[in-house]
Amino acid sequence: MTPNKSNDSSDNSLPEHDQLEWNTPMYRLAVEQLDGTAERMNLDPNVWERLRTPQRAHVVSFPFRRDDYDTVETVFGYRVQHLLTMGPTKGGIRYDIDVNLGEVTALAIWMTWKCAIMAIPFGGAKGGVRVDPAGLSKSERQRITRRYTSEIIEVIGPDRDIPAPDLGTDALTMAWIMDTYSQQKGHTVPGVVTGKPIEIGGSHGRAQATGRGVVSCTIEALKLSGRTIRGTKVAVQGFGEVGATAAQLAHELGARIVALSDVNGGIYADGGLDMDTVNAWMRDQGTLQGFRGADAVTNAELLELPCDVLIPAAIQNQISADNAPKLQCKLLVEGANGPTNLAADDILADRGIMVVPDILANAGGVTVSYFEWLQGLQQFFWTEEEVNTKLITLMQRAFREVHDVAEAQGVTLRTAALMRGIDRVREAKRVRGVFP
Ligand code: NAD
Repeated sequence: MTPNKSNDSSDNSLPEHDQLEWNTPMYRLAVEQLDGTAERMNLDPNVWERLRTPQRAHVVSFPFRRDDYDTVETVFGYRVQHLLTMGPTKGGIRYDIDVNLGEVTALAIWMTWKCAIMAIPFGGAKGGVRVDPAGLSKSERQRITRRYTSEIIEVIGPDRDIPAPDLGTDALTMAWIMDTYSQQKGHTVPGVVTGKPIEIGGSHGRAQATGRGVVSCTIEALKLSGRTIRGTKVAVQGFGEVGATAAQLAHELGARIVALSDVNGGIYADGGLDMDTVNAWMRDQGTLQGFRGADAVTNAELLELPCDVLIPAAIQNQISADNAPKLQCKLLVEGANGPTNLAADDILADRGIMVVPDILANAGGVTVSYFEWLQGLQQFFWTEEEVNTKLITLMQRAFREVHDVAEAQGVTLRTAALMRGIDRVREAKRVRGVFP
């Protein structure tokens, strides 16, 4: 169902998906999640309709020079702000060859729910550049980042829209954005990005925050069936900022990490991987490929391995109706954004596999980004222990609130999380009213 208010052709109802510039499978997933939940909540169609589309969407194209000097390539960049109602907008920037307006729009929508679930005063945003990050030298990456920042400079800012790292970007990328922005404004503006290096106002614990939040949700979800994380078998897809941290923290808490992967494929050892050896291999080789002492598996095979907890922490659209019937985990905790599609959600619910949804499970990143922003505004910096303690407290509270809604309404954690997020936005919109 959609929020169309009547069948009258003079009605100003929203165009169908195929008439929208950002119509892609990922955008449709975000909107179908919203539609299903809005219908269940009896959401006011005026608000519902507004929430289906971005408030602002910026598309830029710009040239950047390759290291050989003679080659100049033109690339596309995006910055989408879904909703300005809640405060400044907030969301990551990804460098990926598949980035498009629909993907960035979906991710911005999810950011809105994520911030609302965590009760953080931000709306959702997301950005990206359509480029293969593996094919960029460090200097090319710096040039592309500085030019992209210049192209979107009027729409970002510490009170407007605050980028952070995502797929293919990192703390150094944020430092270049901050420096470019500051150079053009004529003074240092640390609050324009989060996920910065500590030396220029980054927060302790930010790089590990998303993984820490994922593990915190895993612990809370296991508790529901009277279990602890110690001794559980955990498989993690993606060994980047989120996946590697989640695996390491779970390992330190006594979990058995049975499988890991990166873009080149995965490794599997039913008895548990030796994380010290894996980390050392990764430091030397930069990929899990070729790791000895474990079986090689593909990324697709990893998802179907026997384990207690599966953590997809790489990219979207990994669990569909094709593989959902074959998953052997008891708990799925979404580190990545959008790893599970709607059909898979239904299958997993029928099979009794609990899914902790992305908008809750990976909200630790934006939470510590919020802490970083606060610390920057106050110029008062917290210790790593303070950051981690506050993060875990907020993650536990959010998990409990979402679980309470799920119990009360008899819905999945995903629907409950969406209800919680949408409800906070609805209330804010109601009290602010419509301009003019
Ligand atoms: P990252 O770039 O640090 O790591 C990504 C990992 O996934 C790498 O190991 C990479 O090799 C692997 N990978 C890339 N493409 C793959 C593919 N096609 N198949 C399998 N593996 C692939 O990125 P990250 O920051 O860890 O983000 C991972 C996911 O978590 C993304 O969906 C991102 O949107 C989401 N996320 C990240 C944060 C954060 O704070 N970094 C916060 C919330 C959500």
